[in-house]
Amino acid sequence: MTFNALLIEKSGEAEVSATVQQLTEDRLPSGNVTVAVEYSTVNYKDGLCLQPKNGLVREYPHVPGIDFAGTVEASDDPRYQPGDKVVLTGWRVGESHWGGLSQKARVNADWLVPLPDGLTTKQAMAIGTAGFAAVLAVVALEDHGLKPDRGEVLVTGAAGGVGSIATAILGNLGYEVAAVTGRPETEDYLKSLGASRIVARSDIDTVSKRPLESETWAGCVDAVGGEMLARVIGQLKYGGSVAAVGLAGGAKLPTSVIPFLLRGVNLLGIDSVMQPYENRLRAWQRIATDLPLKKLDAMTHSATLADVPTLATEILKGNIRGRVVVDVNH
Ligand code: NDP
Repeated sequence: MTFNALLIEKSGEAEVSATVQQLTEDRLPSGNVTVAVEYSTVNYKDGLCLQPKNGLVREYPHVPGIDFAGTVEASDDPRYQPGDKVVLTGWRVGESHWGGLSQKARVNADWLVPLPDGLTTKQAMAIGTAGFAAVLAVVALEDHGLKPDRGEVLVTGAAGGVGSIATAILGNLGYEVAAVTGRPETEDYLKSLGASRIVARSDIDTVSKRPLESETWAGCVDAVGGEMLARVIGQLKYGGSVAAVGLAGGAKLPTSVIPFLLRGVNLLGIDSVMQPYENRLRAWQRIATDLPLKKLDAMTHSATLADVPTLATEILKGNIRGRVVVDVNH
């Protein structure tokens, strides 16, 4: 039996090529659960994994795809039976282990969670790693005291995957959301998701000379990092927190300790990859209750395996709006 997968192969010292190929099951990596994948996605990290010398993929040929949802086909683990619907995000699947941009995946049962009640496999992947990280960020902010009456919450990289889902969840929970975007044409889209106002990227993407600016944001979900994150830290209200999720704008953090010492602000790190099982279940439960599915549909585009190489390049340029779901069977 063969199956289709996106295979990345080395095509030179510093080059890789990604093509859809038919593979046989004996090429799947080791693992105790085999899943017939239905949907995967294109996340920013998938964009990186399709680049040469990305620091994430160590061995080629490689099947990328950092998340997937599908149906268990075979299992040596008592927790999963053939026919069970499952979801996988994280655990370096798609980086150090073959991933979900494939009609079949073989993984460790510990990495799976059952498909949350109320979601289809397609919806689970419309959420995907980006949405999972977004909800972890919202939960971390709430755990540090964020409430709707504390004031505006900023979402950076708002028209991207993490940003779109964070905007929709926060809006649905009654927060006033200010959405930062470099794409003014996404204003109507962001307001339809739940943003109350738009902040131009150019207003906030350079470091201020002053370590403290006006106290503006009760909290922030940050997908951008770099100078924007540094700027946000100096604009947080007293005791406010920023959840650092991403680095779409850079990995450096040119800030000072002054906002931490004089305003008691918090920088909360968000990692979706190594979250323990119980936290995953809780986060997926929160997504199922807090993210309106109509808004999820409005932010989702469909694609095929063959579309992924182009989409991977576009996501790194910040050109993808919302979420991309890859139907691996079409
Ligand atoms: P997307 O590309 O979908 O979104 C990123 C958004 O950031 C873009 O849409 C754009 O939004 C904005 N952006 C892009 N480039 C720049 C720039 N140079 N300066 C300022 N803003 C920029 O990616 P994802 O949403 O999938 O991921 C976002 C980040 O979160 C990535 O760094 C990713 O690796 C990280 N991530 C981390 C996780 C974790 O566990 N910590 C999990 C998932 C993602 P706009 O056009 O609106 O300005």
